[in-house]
Amino acid sequence: MNSDCIFCKIVNKEVFAAVLFEDDDIMAFMDIKPINEGHSLVITKKHAVLVDELEEELYLKLFPIGRKIANKIKEVFPETKGIMYFIADGEHAGQEVPHVHLHIIPRKPNDGFDFTFDPAYYDRLLTEEERTKVKDKLIPI
Ligand code: AMP
Ligand code: ZN
Repeated sequence: MNSDCIFCKIVNKEVFAAVLFEDDDIMAFMDIKPINEGHSLVITKKHAVLVDELEEELYLKLFPIGRKIANKIKEVFPETKGIMYFIADGEHAGQEVPHVHLHIIPRKPNDGFDFTFDPAYYDRLLTEEERTKVKDKLIPI
């Protein structure tokens, strides 16, 4: 528990959330500023800023709940044509709330939400050699 953390306050019921699911380890609730209707967040009750701070066992519990919510969203909001499962892991990855959360973001055609890239990005495919070089830096994982 981090007393400055809004999601810890939600876990402690000090701050309201529209809670979709709760067990001993996990909580899921509706995002306050949804990208589309149904946008939900799945969090660990334990406070951790980054995914790597969580035990693997705990981290892995986020996804099954996320998938259940995603399926329900597709059932209830048929305009949903796809789901973005998204974790911003660190400030420079776009993380605004420093408590691990998995976004379940329903997507529909032309919903106006997208990642933006530098124009040069679109012209660039790595060669086999370039990809191999990067891979060699990363293995063994
Ligand atoms: P991120 O940028 O990945 O850290 O996303 C943080 C998300 O938390 C955003 O989608 C916010 O709209 C959402 N959020 C912030 N405060 C609350 C809150 N009190 N209840 C529900 N969602 C919140
Ligand atoms: Zn927290």
